[in-house]
Amino acid sequence: MNLFNKSHNLFICLVALMFSCRSIGELGNSRDKNKALNSNNAREVKMKSQNRFFDLLHTKLQLKIDLKNEKLQGEALLKLKPYANNVKQLIIDAKFMDINSVGLVIGNQKKALRFQYDSLQLEISLDKTYSNEEEFLIYIDYTSIPARIKDQDRGLYFIKKKKKDAYAYQAWTQGETDGASCWFPTIDQPNERCTQEIYLTLPDSLVSLSNGKLVYKSSNQDGTRTDYWKQDLSHAPYLFMIAVGEFKIIKDQWGDKPVWYYIEDEFSDYALDIFGNTPEMLSFFSELLDYPYPWGKYSQIIVRDFVSGAMENTSATVFFDGMLMTDKELLDGNYEDIIAHELFHHWFGNLVTCESWSHIALNESFATYGEYLWFEYKYGIIKAQELMLRNKRHYFEDSEFVQYPLVRHSYLTTDDVFDAHSYEKGAMILHFLRNYLGDEVFFTALKRYLKAHQFKSVETHELRLAFEEASGKDLNWFFDQWFFSHGHPIIDWHYEINNNEVLVYVEQTTSRTDVPLFHVPIDIKVKCIDTSYIDRLWLYTSDTVFNLNKSSEISFVNLDPFRTIPGILNKPVNHQVINDHWQYLDHVEDRINYLDVAMNLKETDADIFYNSMLDSSKQVTLKALSYYNENVFELTEKAIVRLKTLLTKDKPSEVRLKAARILLNTQNNRKEEFINQLAKDPSVIISNWALIKMSEYDTTKTLNIARQKQNTITLSEVFCVSEVFSKLGSIRDVGFYIKAMDTYSSWKLGRIMSDMSNYISIIEDKKVVDRLLNKVLDLKVDEGIYMSYIMSSLKETILDKYKKWYKGEVFKRKSALLDEL
Ligand SMILES: [Zn+2]
Repeated sequence: MNLFNKSHNLFICLVALMFSCRSIGELGNSRDKNKALNSNNAREVKMKSQNRFFDLLHTKLQLKIDLKNEKLQGEALLKLKPYANNVKQLIIDAKFMDINSVGLVIGNQKKALRFQYDSLQLEISLDKTYSNEEEFLIYIDYTSIPARIKDQDRGLYFIKKKKKDAYAYQAWTQGETDGASCWFPTIDQPNERCTQEIYLTLPDSLVSLSNGKLVYKSSNQDGTRTDYWKQDLSHAPYLFMIAVGEFKIIKDQWGDKPVWYYIEDEFSDYALDIFGNTPEMLSFFSELLDYPYPWGKYSQIIVRDFVSGAMENTSATVFFDGMLMTDKELLDGNYEDIIAHELFHHWFGNLVTCESWSHIALNESFATYGEYLWFEYKYGIIKAQELMLRNKRHYFEDSEFVQYPLVRHSYLTTDDVFDAHSYEKGAMILHFLRNYLGDEVFFTALKRYLKAHQFKSVETHELRLAFEEASGKDLNWFFDQWFFSHGHPIIDWHYEINNNEVLVYVEQTTSRTDVPLFHVPIDIKVKCIDTSYIDRLWLYTSDTVFNLNKSSEISFVNLDPFRTIPGILNKPVNHQVINDHWQYLDHVEDRINYLDVAMNLKETDADIFYNSMLDSSKQVTLKALSYYNENVFELTEKAIVRLKTLLTKDKPSEVRLKAARILLNTQNNRKEEFINQLAKDPSVIISNWALIKMSEYDTTKTLNIARQKQNTITLSEVFCVSEVFSKLGSIRDVGFYIKAMDTYSSWKLGRIMSDMSNYISIIEDKKVVDRLLNKVLDLKVDEGIYMSYIMSSLKETILDKYKKWYKGEVFKRKSALLDEL
C-alpha cells in the first residue's frame, strides 16, 4: 500500500487509512475481537501472529454486483484442511453480511450446516470431526452490504455521480488490512494464502478487473455479463480484489504477459505517459532479484475516491485518482515512485508476505526501497539520493512525535503500523545494510530470501537469516538495533589536521534518553592531494577519537560520505571551509546541509549560491534559489543571467517556477510582458502562477484566458480557473461551478466549493445564487470535517446575500433552504 505525502498534493494517505475495523485484542480466531471492537477504554496489548486452525487452500467466488442497491450477492466455496486432528468447529471472518446459508459440498450435493453469526465471524459446526489429512469444501451463500459499515473499512466501495439519486458507476475493493472479509468470507489474516477463482456478474456495458487471468467473458440474457477470473498462484486474502466501472483498457505487454492500464476514457490518451515505464520496470526488478515477475499478468487501474494512495492487489494494482493526469501536468512531475512501490510489492508482500502486521516492514520497507532502486537505475544516483533524503525527512519528522521499533508487537490498531517508520525508516535501514554488506551480498541475500520463502509468510528473523547466510556474518546486533529497537543515533563530529596525523572526533548521543548508544559501522572518506580512499570505522561509545595516519597531504575528510546511516550527522561548518569543501561533497544531502549553514552565516559568500544554481541536483538548485528569494538585493547581473538560463525549457518545472518568481522582481516596467509570456508556458504550474499574477495587471485578459481554459480536464488548471472566477468572475461563469460540482468529489470538490463561496460573495444576481444553491442541495456531498467547514462557510456567504436581498417572510422562506446544507 502506498501512503504517500507529497508536498504538492493534499492527499495524505496516512489519514485516509484511519477507518480500519481492526481494533485491539488478541488477533486470534476468537470472540475476543468482538469485545475489543466494542471496547471504549482500549488498552495496548501484545499482538501476535494469528493462530492457524485451518489451512484455506482455495477460494471460489460467484459474485453478482448490484450497483443500484450497492450490494454484492455472493456464494463462496472454500476448500479447507485442518491443522490439527479432531477438529469440529470452523471460524470464518465475514463482516456485517447477511448470511443466507452455510453448508458442505459433497460431490454434487449440498449439506446444510449449523452456524452462529455475530456480524464479524461465522462459527460453523462441521458435520463430523476432521483429521488434518482431510480436505473439505464449505459453501457460504451471503450478501455483502458495505453501506452498513460505518467509520471502518468497508472492503467494497461504490462510487456514485454526485447527484443524490444517481446509481454507482464504479465499485472497487480495498482489502488491507482486514477489509477483504467485508466482501467475501475468508480467514482474513496475512499468514493465510490460497489460490482463487472469481465469477463476477456485472452490467454488460462495464469493464471488470480482478486478480489473475481473465479466462472468459460470457453474456447473459438479462443484460449482464459474467467474467471469469482465475489465479493459480496462492496469495493472502487481503490482496484479493475486484473493480467494476466504465474504464478504457490500454494494452501493453511484457514478454508474453499482458500489462494493461485501466483508465477513464477522457484520460486514456495519457495512459502510456502515466504508466508507460511499467514493462521496463518489470524487466529491471525481475533481473535485479533474479526472479521473473511470477504473476500471470500485470494490470493497473485508476479509480475514483480511493481510500489510500495505491494498493498492490496481486496482478491488479489500484491507484487513487490524483494519477488521472494529462500530458501537461506530467511535464511538472509524475507518480512513478508509487508505480515502482506497488510493483516491487509483487515480490515483497505478495510473493513473500509478512506473517502478521507486526512485521509489515517486510512489505513496506522493501516497497519503499523499490522506489529508490528504480530511480537509481533509471534516473541516476542524484535522483535516488533526493528520494532517500525525502524519506529521511519524513521519518525524522515522525520521530519528533513517536519512536517505535520497526517490528512492533504492541499497537492499538493495525493502521498504526503503516507509518513513516515501516515505510521510510525501513527503506533507510535497508539502504544502510546494503552499504554495510556491499551490493553483491545484499542482492544475493534478497534472491535467497525470495526463493526460500516464495508463496509463504515470514517474520523478520527469516530476513536476518538470509542476510547471514549470504554474508557469513552474524547480524543479530544489526537487526536488534534497527528492526527490534526504536530510535536513531545523533552523531556530532569534526576533524583536525596536525603535522603527522588527522584526528576525527566523534560524539554519539541518541534520539531519546531511553535509546542506548548504537553500534555503528561508519565509512570515512579521506581526500588526499591526488587520490582518495574510504575506510570503515566502528562507533560504539559516546566519545571516540579516530587517528588517521597521514601518509600524504590530506585536503578533506568526510564521515558517512554516502549518507547511509539512519541517523543525524552534524558537523560544524564555517565561512572559510564552505567553498573549500564544496568540490568534495558527493552527496545531495551534504550539499544541501552546507547551503543551509551558508544561509545563516553573516559573511556568506554569494558565489556558493551562484555556483550551486547549476548543480546536478534539483533540490540543491532549489535551495540555492531560496537564498535569492530571500535576498533579492544580492541579485547581480551575472546572477540574473543565470536565473534566465534556469528558466529555459529543459530545467525541472519547480526550478523554472522559482527562477521566474525571483526574476519577476527584476523586471521593473516589463513585468506585464514577462507574465504574459509565462502564462503561455507549457508547464501547468508556471502558466497557472502567471495567470494568477496577471490578475494584478490585466483583469480582462486574465478572465478571458480563464474562460478559454474552463473546459480543461487538467486538475491543476481547473483549480486555477476556479480561483480566477472566485475573484473576477461574472454571472456568465456560473456554468463552470455547476459542471465542477458534477465532476469532482472529496477534497477536490471542497477546494472548488471554497472558491465558489468567494464567487457568490462577488455576484449580485439572485438567479445565479439560487441556481448554485439548488445544485448544492441536490449533491450527495461527502461527509467529513473539511467538507462541513466548507459548507458552513458557503452557508454564511449565501445568508449574507439573502439578508441584503430579502425581508420578512421571503427571507425566512429563502434562508430555511440553507438549513438543509
Ligand atoms: Zn506499500
